[in-house]
Amino acid sequence: MTTDCLFCNMVSGEMAVEKLHDDDLCFAIRDINPRAPVHLLVIPKIHIATMRDVQEEHGPLLGRMTAVANRLAEAEGISERGYRLTFNVGDEGGQTVYHIHLHVLGGRQLGAEG
Ligand code: 5GP
Ligand code: ZN
Repeated sequence: MTTDCLFCNMVSGEMAVEKLHDDDLCFAIRDINPRAPVHLLVIPKIHIATMRDVQEEHGPLLGRMTAVANRLAEAEGISERGYRLTFNVGDEGGQTVYHIHLHVLGGRQLGAEG
């Protein structure tokens, strides 16, 4: 079923996308508009609109997403050099897709936040 959520449509298979990782809780893709040589998104399979909506019960999911991000950074060869893990929250936080996702950015010296 198509929803108006881009990432839910990727979960359902309605929108085809190459997945770098796929498990029972989350999946990972390359960002379509990369802002660094490596720019991945780790996305939960359940719909949570923003990080404001995250509760303590989501701990195992966030732990998995972080572990997957770290593993992918290793696989992409940026682990040692360092990288950035980011959640954008709300409009002024730079969020454009309202289904939470963890950005994995690296492969160049990143600037200061903001
Ligand atoms: P946000 O701005 O919400 O933190 O991040 C959303 C990200 O999703 C952006 O970096 C944007 O480039 C990426 N994005 C938007 N649409 C698509 C898409 O259809 N495919 C992929 N792979 N990434 C997308
Ligand atoms: Zn969604």
